[in-house]
Amino acid sequence: MVNLNTVLADMQTLIETESPSADLDACARVVQVANEMLTQRLGSPGKVINVAGRDHLWWGAEQPKVLVLGHIDTVWPIGTLAEIPFAINGDKLTGPGCVDMKSGVVQGIHAIAAANLPGVAYLLTTDEEIGSETSRGLIEQAAASAVAVLVLECAQHEALKTARKGTSNYEIVAHGLAAHAGLEPEKGINAGLAISEIALSVSKIGSAELGTTVTPTVIKAGTTTNTVPALAELSIDVRAWSATEQQRVDSEIKSITSSIPGIKIEVKGGINRPPMETKLSMGLFSLAQEIAPEVGITNLANAEVGGASDGNFTAAIGIPTIDGLGAVGAGSHARTEWVSVSAIEPRVKLLAEMITRLLKA
Ligand SMILES: [Zn+2]
Repeated sequence: MVNLNTVLADMQTLIETESPSADLDACARVVQVANEMLTQRLGSPGKVINVAGRDHLWWGAEQPKVLVLGHIDTVWPIGTLAEIPFAINGDKLTGPGCVDMKSGVVQGIHAIAAANLPGVAYLLTTDEEIGSETSRGLIEQAAASAVAVLVLECAQHEALKTARKGTSNYEIVAHGLAAHAGLEPEKGINAGLAISEIALSVSKIGSAELGTTVTPTVIKAGTTTNTVPALAELSIDVRAWSATEQQRVDSEIKSITSSIPGIKIEVKGGINRPPMETKLSMGLFSLAQEIAPEVGITNLANAEVGGASDGNFTAAIGIPTIDGLGAVGAGSHARTEWVSVSAIEPRVKLLAEMITRLLKA
């Protein structure tokens, strides 16, 4: 049912087509290569959809019951392949983007071929690594009719990913008034002091118990060493497991004030990727656990991870979503990334069987 040599050859083809997210021509090329592969393995081509100059690829049903989701851009610049060529040594397959996530993408093609049923769409995007600005609408559109979204990012060690934190970003600007720090500092309004006070107070908004982090990151203030700062800025990185927590932090940050008279506070930014919550993934995880022993996977576990993926978008619109169904390996975004060859076949079978049971349910 699954021919490992064909799968490995397809992985080589896709990995050897370099595709850094920012390079639109390279992304268009990898879409062509993936589309040829889809045509060859699934019998029909996908539709190339251009959004704001960038190509994405949609194969299969227009209103799918099951959406399989992946991305074919990587974080690696053109030329990385020459330094880290595609190779297989023992159980380790290497090459730029192998674990994040071209091997997973190829596993997806062969799983859909094995399931061989109507009602599936396979969406392959090219801007995941830079925030999915042009693909988010397509992802939400493809997911809207689905009973399940299966995301092919790599496994966490061997575990499926059942929760991902949501992310929010803010910039707080404090406007004060400049004055000479030696002659008449009392006539100034110190924006630097105001932003320091705010940095301290926002750092207490997080919740260790709920895993919500609110981290002041970039802080800037003032112009010269003898001037009361008229302007100060603070960037804040927020991560949360639940939408409720994300909203709580959002309203607290947006209502922040200063105790310094005359300071004006401006808050920019907001919620970026919503969290992928376990309530939308655990049903799919149970299904995967039920199938796992039948395909030779023992002790399939689940993991909750801090980083976000495109699965965050589909979970946020209420569609059951699970992630980590792609390659087993390690080293995303690192030069040491690798994929386990012996794990390929069981993972293709697991995915094929999940697709089949979801379509028949
Ligand atoms: Zn990825």
